[in-house]
Amino acid sequence: MEITESQIKSIVGEVMAKMQLGESVTKMHGIFTDMNEAIEAAKEAQKQVRVMSMDQREKIISIIRRKIKENAETMARMGVEETGMGNVGDKILKHVLVAEKTPGTEDIKTEAWSGDRGLTLVEMGPFGVIGAITPCTNPSETVLCNTMGMLAGGNTVVFNPHPQAIKTSIFAINLLNEASLEAGGPDNIAVTVEKPTMDSSAIMMKHKDIHLIVATGGPGVVTAVLSSGKRGIGAGAGNPPALVDETADIRKAAEDIVNGCTFDNNLPCIAEKEVVAVDSICDELMRYMVEEQGCYLASPEVQDKLIHTVMDEKGRLNRKCVGRSAKVLLAMVGVDVSDNIRCITFEGPKEHPLITTELMMPILGVVRAKNFDDAVEQAVWLEHGNRHSAHIHSKNVDRITKYAREIDTAILVKNGPSYAALGFGGEGFPTFTIASRTGEGLTSAATFTKRRRCTMSDSLCIR
Ligand code: NAD
Repeated sequence: MEITESQIKSIVGEVMAKMQLGESVTKMHGIFTDMNEAIEAAKEAQKQVRVMSMDQREKIISIIRRKIKENAETMARMGVEETGMGNVGDKILKHVLVAEKTPGTEDIKTEAWSGDRGLTLVEMGPFGVIGAITPCTNPSETVLCNTMGMLAGGNTVVFNPHPQAIKTSIFAINLLNEASLEAGGPDNIAVTVEKPTMDSSAIMMKHKDIHLIVATGGPGVVTAVLSSGKRGIGAGAGNPPALVDETADIRKAAEDIVNGCTFDNNLPCIAEKEVVAVDSICDELMRYMVEEQGCYLASPEVQDKLIHTVMDEKGRLNRKCVGRSAKVLLAMVGVDVSDNIRCITFEGPKEHPLITTELMMPILGVVRAKNFDDAVEQAVWLEHGNRHSAHIHSKNVDRITKYAREIDTAILVKNGPSYAALGFGGEGFPTFTIASRTGEGLTSAATFTKRRRCTMSDSLCIR
């Protein structure tokens, strides 16, 4: 069914208005006023999920996929409207990616050994009810993608979403439960509270029935979860550098880097946040970025104004600038540019505040390096030990290997835009929870399971 632009606007408007009034929110599936009640409901739902066949879990997941596609534009618009971050076109692509490529039950595999002394299996079992904390940068994408993986693993999930993205998160949680009910599954496979707070988060983290907590967000939340005394998966902040050496296809590198950096206005944690370029090709790279890729070359005065606009004197980000387009950011500092400007660039040292800080804005400072080894050193410094994501444009495999070893990130994209790592123009599956701090890397259904060994002694080996 074709749905017009004005129909979508009116649906989004209607949903947001209802939520503004607090009207009917608690009548939506999976939404509670009290965190303990939410956990109790998810626990009841998990009792049903744990005895479901894999086929039944997969049936729910396939309906979730269909519903995400049907509602991709609505959720994209809600996300932008509620948080003020990102852009609708790219957010639609992110939802479609989640719908089409998030792994389901095929990710749950059994290992087996058989021999003279019998048979041993290692099976992936559910944790039970998982607690999940989600960011405002990819609100519905994270809720949907996490739940698909967690459900495939036999779990249900209680979310404490970012308060600034609660309406969009509630819409996604309701959609997940509608899909489960349509497939003959239980309500409350995913739940949340109407008004998430630090208190509701603390209740969730301490609750006796939550055995795994998955945190997607900045350093504060990951540290809080890892201090909870429970098993935690920490998907934290990044500041991914894109290194370019003289063996690269410089013109293509400029295109890939700016495409990756500007995707959803630089919100993805994996997106290029700064460039480190070898001296001999640095000018050429910046020329392509400016002349062919819609980069605005910021003067020292504009850089200064940007610093004072996008962050305070303590370096804390101005939330009104996060995820905004280059045109909007430039307008904030009194610079009017045409619509084809999609990124802001300049050359500066690695310590420059707009380079060293994870801004989540299409601002791409370029750091000049004497040679490849110097570039690696500066890029490793800029990644700040997050071990999250890094990118390289080079045709020399030995250099790529050296960089990969030294920067040691969960994601390293070679000769492509950052989003290739999420299966978008690259191989592999997507996720919006990349466990950088705790080392699981890109999470999927298997990440949300525990290993259980089952041994039959001296029998069932029939070779
Ligand atoms: P944020 O850290 O402000 O908030 C993330 C979530 O954590 C929210 O739900 C928030 O309410 C909660 N939170 C924050 N501090 C907390 C604390 N001390 N205790 C309990 N809960 C707390 O981040 P954001 O602005 O929503 O998202 C952007 C950040 O998240 C960036 O740093 C980005 O790199 C990171 N991120 C990482 C991944 C990943 O997969 N590694 C994915 C998306 C975003």
